[in-house]
Amino acid sequence: MPPLVWINGTIHPPETATVSVFDHGLLYGDGVFEGMRTYGGKVFRLEAHLRRLEASAKAIALEVPVPFDDLVTVTNDLVHRTGFADAYLRHIVTRGVGDLGIDPRRCTSPSVIIICDELKMFPAEKLAAGLRVVTAGTPMPHREALSPRVKSLNYLPHVLAKHEGGTAGADEVLMLDSSGHVAEGSGQNLFIVTEGVVRTPPPSAGILKGVTRDVVIELAGREGVPVREELLNRYDVYTADEVFLTGTASEIVPVREVDARAIGAGCPGPVTQRLMAGFRRLTRGG
Ligand code: PMP
Repeated sequence: MPPLVWINGTIHPPETATVSVFDHGLLYGDGVFEGMRTYGGKVFRLEAHLRRLEASAKAIALEVPVPFDDLVTVTNDLVHRTGFADAYLRHIVTRGVGDLGIDPRRCTSPSVIIICDELKMFPAEKLAAGLRVVTAGTPMPHREALSPRVKSLNYLPHVLAKHEGGTAGADEVLMLDSSGHVAEGSGQNLFIVTEGVVRTPPPSAGILKGVTRDVVIELAGREGVPVREELLNRYDVYTADEVFLTGTASEIVPVREVDARAIGAGCPGPVTQRLMAGFRRLTRGG
């Protein structure tokens, strides 16, 4: 089954799913996006993702030209048409076509794109063994320059951090903010577990407020595991009993090593495993 792409109201196969070279999303990274997935054909936390898309757009003074309820309908319809049981969705809203100047006022009509493709996940053996993570030298963008809470089309710091991780032979990277606090992975939020307490940086620290992150905080509450949102340093990560990352496609991924320090016993810990089991029950039942 091929992926399908909805562009401003028309559904295309990948071959004709194209945008103008004058779109400011391409020229300036002027736009926002979302990444969602389905379980058994149903989009997980669709409304939370769409609310974050609208908030990201608002923060960059971009109006999403499709009403919220229509986005829900169109998204569900696209998933249904592709027939993927486990689909990955990418929603993109760009400033639209303008001229070569930077002025967003030249772009009169924002573009909305929704891509529905088959989901690709971390290999199962990586999930079982845990990831090797290194700290990236590339910091997060300063939150007053481009808030990391905006899921914008400017992902270059995250792309470069991921590149650093790849060249260092690591599975993932840890990104720090400009004052050295721990922020997030290249496309995941970070959690640590210390003496039975789950700890993660607060959104105000300059991270993306992940939908999976919110689900994990809910799950921990339900399981009676205490959660603290607080600023963390690499010391906290190195000395944690457990570390894991969360994200839409990767769900909850254990980390077994950070900057050549084994985490805990060097294998997925009991709190991580409990939350992974809770997440599986929530998304797949049983
Ligand atoms: N941080 C960044 C930078 C991300 O791009 C993502 C999404 N891939 C996340 C965290 C995790 O967010 P979510 O759980 O909503 O996928």
